[in-house]
Amino acid sequence: MADTFGFVDDNLAVIRANIREAAESCGRSADEIRIMAVTKTVAPETVNRAVALGVDLLGENRVQEFLSKQDAYDKSAEIHFIGHLQTNKVKYIIGPMTMIQSVDSVKLAEEINRLASAHNKTMDILCEVNIGGEDSKSGVAPDELIPLLEQIAPLEHIRVRGLMTIPPPSSGDVFLGRMEELFHKVRDRDIEGTSMEVLSMGMTHDYAEAVKHGSTLVRIGTGLFGARDYSR
Ligand SMILES: *Cc1c(COP(=O)(O)O)cnc(C)c1O
Repeated sequence: MADTFGFVDDNLAVIRANIREAAESCGRSADEIRIMAVTKTVAPETVNRAVALGVDLLGENRVQEFLSKQDAYDKSAEIHFIGHLQTNKVKYIIGPMTMIQSVDSVKLAEEINRLASAHNKTMDILCEVNIGGEDSKSGVAPDELIPLLEQIAPLEHIRVRGLMTIPPPSSGDVFLGRMEELFHKVRDRDIEGTSMEVLSMGMTHDYAEAVKHGSTLVRIGTGLFGARDYSR
């Protein structure tokens, strides 16, 4: 009998092998790199196959879509928010998610802090950096990152755990290299109330390169689930 979801097994095996190869090529262990399954447009049954295969982290970038699929997800995976987030939507994700990777303003950080406090929790966050300086992208400019971190670090119900970025498409590894440098610079600065453990960088087209530039978390959609069908 045909296995409807078998393609996920095959894709994941390729991704794991590529990560291992990239990691070993620069003296890292593949265990240092976490795989996130990016779920946009993908049916929960397909997502759950990845979870059954050991992917323990899902990435959501649309609040509405998440709310419509949430109940059907295998509950054993953690969920992070990775999309552009309006302050009036934070209330829908503060409970079910364990990290918000796309924080790029004091205002958003303060709203997350306020709602986390109301939920008696501390929310892990990453600051999103617009490393390519693209007008179309969210994220803080590289030279505004440290001021942002200094302003949000004292908030008691958020914990800054690292950085996230989406480099410009087909820019080679120039921006991956700049992001790696920025990550080290901020980590060395050791701003009180922050820790720099997570560098969320690398998607289907560049995850192997991202691993060579120090990524600790790769976010993969197409490479795992196939091309997205926006007509569904
Ligand atoms: C869609 C998306 C991804 C995954 O992109 P693919 O190219 O399909 O792997 C990763 N990160 C973010 C923020 C995304 O929106």
